[in-house]
Amino acid sequence: MLSVQEALALVVEHAGQQPAVETPLEKSFGLLLAEDVTSDVDSPPFTKSMMDGYAVLAADIKDGQGEVVKVGEIAAGQVPSQKLEAGQTIQIMTGAPVPEGAEAVIMVENSQVVAETSSLEEVIELKDSNFKPGQNIMPKGRELSKGEIVLKTGHRIGAPEVGLLATVGCVSPKVFQRPTLAVLSTGDEIVPPSQKPGPGQIRNSNESTVVALAQAAGINYKRLGVAKDDEADLAEKIKVGLNSDVLILSGGVSAGKRDLVPKVLEQLGVKQVFHKARFKPGKPIWFGTHENGLVFGLPGNPVSVLACFEVFVKTALKKRMGFENPLPQLEEASLREDFKYSTRRPTYHPAKLRTEGGKLTIQPVSWYGSPDLRALNAANSLVVLPSGDGPYNAGDSLQVLSFRQGLL
Ligand code: AMP
Ligand code: MG
Repeated sequence: MLSVQEALALVVEHAGQQPAVETPLEKSFGLLLAEDVTSDVDSPPFTKSMMDGYAVLAADIKDGQGEVVKVGEIAAGQVPSQKLEAGQTIQIMTGAPVPEGAEAVIMVENSQVVAETSSLEEVIELKDSNFKPGQNIMPKGRELSKGEIVLKTGHRIGAPEVGLLATVGCVSPKVFQRPTLAVLSTGDEIVPPSQKPGPGQIRNSNESTVVALAQAAGINYKRLGVAKDDEADLAEKIKVGLNSDVLILSGGVSAGKRDLVPKVLEQLGVKQVFHKARFKPGKPIWFGTHENGLVFGLPGNPVSVLACFEVFVKTALKKRMGFENPLPQLEEASLREDFKYSTRRPTYHPAKLRTEGGKLTIQPVSWYGSPDLRALNAANSLVVLPSGDGPYNAGDSLQVLSFRQGLL
């Protein structure tokens, strides 16, 4: 049976890529660029003041002091009309273009009006013990210059990047399109959450979990409800799901007589890439591809769905969206207390990750196995316990996958 690492390598190999499309800037958050972005302007576009204050010639300030005559004012959005001469100052506001000749700006907090010579002309005393020529002035093009590449292909668009794209006038960046996801639950015993389960029945929790995971990842989703353990019903509903980039099924992939999902998928032309991986919870996981996208058949137990989504589905979504490293990002944490556990398969055990004394610690929570979703109330991560008889000792270093971070 494949190890998790081998199965993940197959997911990465077969995940494919979303089409590159131009998208409105306000819809680009969280996506990855599919092309380099070049600036069409210098920024700042003119040499500007970074403070409210007084523009001066460096020679007029000696030992951090000087007296100058104010000959005008420039507000942001205005254009200076005069050149600054020796002995003069122009009062300037943050973001305003610096007048020709000016070599520094002294903050208004370091100024005092000492005499009024006329209605406009005032004598200003300036004191700034840290005075340096060039201070509080941002030269034209200091941040970026016209024609320069400001963001490269594969860069993820976060809040600062959205602002930077706006700065350079890139209102329709080319990005890898967000994948769409469909979720189909299977099982004769599954009823909607709104219904009180009858004898032998169980509520559908998996659809809600997958929808929440999709929402947290910013992925558009479609709910396909529940298919019976019946080939015709499965085929009909799976066909609808194949219109989405990624179809997630829950249930029906194990070894039971009514586990018909793999068979129906293959009948519909979905090619199996792998079935089963050596780990807990979620061993029967099924993964396949078809011409429009991917299919994951996840085992029906609720914690298996969560673990498989975090480990495998997110990897596929990230790969399709253009992430350079789409694999799960595991962290090392130190075991908080001794823990007895013996398992024949590596186990992603629900656990609580904390920062204590500047260091990450991990503590497995009490858990009754793959059906026990409630145990996750107290958890924020899955700790990877290698196969074997344990026991694990306090201070042991273990790998952890955090699952409460939301975004991919
Ligand atoms: P299966 O993988 O179909 O053998 O299902 C394994 C276990 O998960 C069974 O106990 C199912 O009743 C349960 N299960 C399957 N689908 C769901 C679902 N959508 N919501 C909650 N539990 C489920
Ligand atoms: Mg079933």
